[in-house]
Amino acid sequence: MASPLILERRAISVRGTVQGVGFRPFVFRLAARWKLTGFVQNHAGGVRIEVEGEPEALDRFLAEIATDAPPRAQVEQLWWEPLPPRGERRFRIAQSDSAATGRIVVSPDIATCDRCLRELADPADRRHRHPFINCTNCGPRLTIVTGAPYDRPRTTMARFDMCPRCQAEYHDPRDRRFHAQPIACPRCGPRLSLLDAQGHKLASDDPLSDFAQALLAGKIGALKGIGGYHLVCDARQAAVVAALRRRKHRDEKPLALMVADLAHAREICLVDRAEEQLLRSPPRPIVLLRKRAGSAIAAEVAPANPLLGIMLPYSALHHLLLQATGGAPLVMTSGNQSDEPIAYEEEDALHRLSGVADLFLVHDRPIAVRCDDSVVRVIDGLATPLRRSRGFAPRPIDLPHPSPQPILAVGGQLKVTFALACDGQAVLSHHLGDLGDYRAYQAFETDIDLYQRLFAIRPVCIAHDLHPDYASTYYALRRQTQAGHRCLAVQHHHAHVASCMAEHRLRGAVIGVAFDGSGLGSDGAVWGGEFFVGDYRRFRRAAHLRCVGMPGGEQAIRQPWRMAAAHLLDAGLSLDPLAPRIPAHLLRLVETLLRRGIHAPPTSSVGRLFDAVASLAGLRDQVSFEGQAAMELEWHADGQVSADAYPYRLDQPPGGPLVIDTRPLVRAIVGDLAGRVGVGRIAQRFHGTIAEIVVGVCRRLRDEQHLNRVVLSGGVFQNALLTAEVCRRLAAERFESFRHRLVPPGDGGLSLGQVAIAAAQLNCQNL
Ligand code: ZN
Ligand code: ZN
Ligand code: FE
Repeated sequence: MASPLILERRAISVRGTVQGVGFRPFVFRLAARWKLTGFVQNHAGGVRIEVEGEPEALDRFLAEIATDAPPRAQVEQLWWEPLPPRGERRFRIAQSDSAATGRIVVSPDIATCDRCLRELADPADRRHRHPFINCTNCGPRLTIVTGAPYDRPRTTMARFDMCPRCQAEYHDPRDRRFHAQPIACPRCGPRLSLLDAQGHKLASDDPLSDFAQALLAGKIGALKGIGGYHLVCDARQAAVVAALRRRKHRDEKPLALMVADLAHAREICLVDRAEEQLLRSPPRPIVLLRKRAGSAIAAEVAPANPLLGIMLPYSALHHLLLQATGGAPLVMTSGNQSDEPIAYEEEDALHRLSGVADLFLVHDRPIAVRCDDSVVRVIDGLATPLRRSRGFAPRPIDLPHPSPQPILAVGGQLKVTFALACDGQAVLSHHLGDLGDYRAYQAFETDIDLYQRLFAIRPVCIAHDLHPDYASTYYALRRQTQAGHRCLAVQHHHAHVASCMAEHRLRGAVIGVAFDGSGLGSDGAVWGGEFFVGDYRRFRRAAHLRCVGMPGGEQAIRQPWRMAAAHLLDAGLSLDPLAPRIPAHLLRLVETLLRRGIHAPPTSSVGRLFDAVASLAGLRDQVSFEGQAAMELEWHADGQVSADAYPYRLDQPPGGPLVIDTRPLVRAIVGDLAGRVGVGRIAQRFHGTIAEIVVGVCRRLRDEQHLNRVVLSGGVFQNALLTAEVCRRLAAERFESFRHRLVPPGDGGLSLGQVAIAAAQLNCQNL
């Protein structure tokens, strides 16, 4: 006779990205397989499961939750405790427990999955060619959410009443659209319409095809997408792309492209394995790829740039549009003029894009959260985020140490993201852009408020940059005055280094290398070429580039020749190399500013040194966006670094940090120019020199401090050639080096570093 059945009951808690990703139906099916009873429920801290059955089946069930979870789910923590059995008959999916407090996890937006694509293409399917098809594994998430917990009434789908068939799917736990909040079909879902340049509705039986035909005929369109409006045109038509640039007031910044599939991407760019994976990954970021010579893409898309930003379609609407254009590669760039934030509300879009777009393809599902496309570049085999936004935000990042109190970190001034942290995790926001733009600042305020509600985090401490004039600092200090929050000012480059340390969950002291454009230093100077020794709580500036003046302050960022002048004079040279290109009165003015130290704040920035060298080499005296001159210097090196470095010196002033004297380097470059050495060769020697400086200084610090871990951060490490070379040389010298994989090396990653530093400070005060 079989032994009597022993039943056990367990209460299981699951944390991670487990809402809006098909997790509950997965649990339901798993419970059915192991013949378990009980229930599964979304609650504010994640998902709660109670199951009852034979102990062995329960063990198998628990193991499979962790190993077989749906593709987009991310189980971060799972624990259980025993309960007395209840003798239930079935397993059910219980109502969300919206009263519970704690953390709610909303998934990032997810590209249309293969099963939905098959239905989209199937004439027999009721969602054949439906631009808003989605399921529990794919579709919009963050961009449609208006409140917590994540449920249909708290999304912008609330205004669409489900038809009976959608309703049946939505409520059936065996259906692949069970509780897919954005569920829709041609009967009950959002609808497309076509508007003219003035925003008047155009009569059209098929708005999508008419829009596609207009693009092929050389029109510029505005397309309402997932996280905002895109400006779209045929990337092969030079005149149209040039017109788009003119109307958008975008002189030279490269424009992103969307192509139908991987094969189309390969026609215009070289795509390696890592890049292919990124292109096809569910977040579908823009991937920076090397251009193929002789492709059909108009040069105006990315003038004088060896790279193109390419993405694959990430919504059904995109897939249908690219089919309707016959696979034409489309420019797909943020719907804005110059540096404003991307337009996402219809009225605003019509207003701001009238005069840019000839026609609009819109729909009636509102966008709740403005979310730009993410940008990633593969650097030496590793995906490095340059902009972490749609598809990645708000996926949480584990912190190296838990925070005893909830923290908000507000980032810097440019490329801003904010972060909210509670316990051991931080949630980083989507990209908010330049807070100097009032619209961007407004979005910054409202989105902080939204995230606080979504994740049920009420910060008591606000971390901000040391710079008093950043709009984010102003915001933090205002909240301190109004609501009594505690504020903590964090030095810019310390935050950079801490952001990379936090990504790798490093603890203890490291050598931190922070190379960027500029950030306010603790001594009031403009820093940007810094070596630190320390951890999250304490850091010491151990070395830095020799300071030179930035004549005209911010103007020196837009006009690299000013930095060239500063470095020439610092090196005891004349301004003659600039004389053929820069008017004499301007050179005299800048010389006066520098000699008298008027309106020429001292800077140790590596970014500005790149600018200076690019100008000296005759590449660029003016830029239309920060980093442009440095980028061109990287391209001119053509993937090569010279082992023949320029000279530099390390000076050790008594009691102060080590100073990297760049004067010998500048003299040698001027010597090369006089000797008619080519720009490419100068760029290769310069990159080699900067890499040599990093390794040389790290070697000195290792000898003194007995530290072997080197952390690389700051916007300069978006330079693939430099980053790869630095890592290679550090490895050759047996250093352990760390670089960014989760957040951008530039200012988009600052908020993570600020959070990690604030959490460490709060921790030590509690001890
Ligand atoms: Zn799907
Ligand atoms: Zn329907
Ligand atoms: Fe920075």
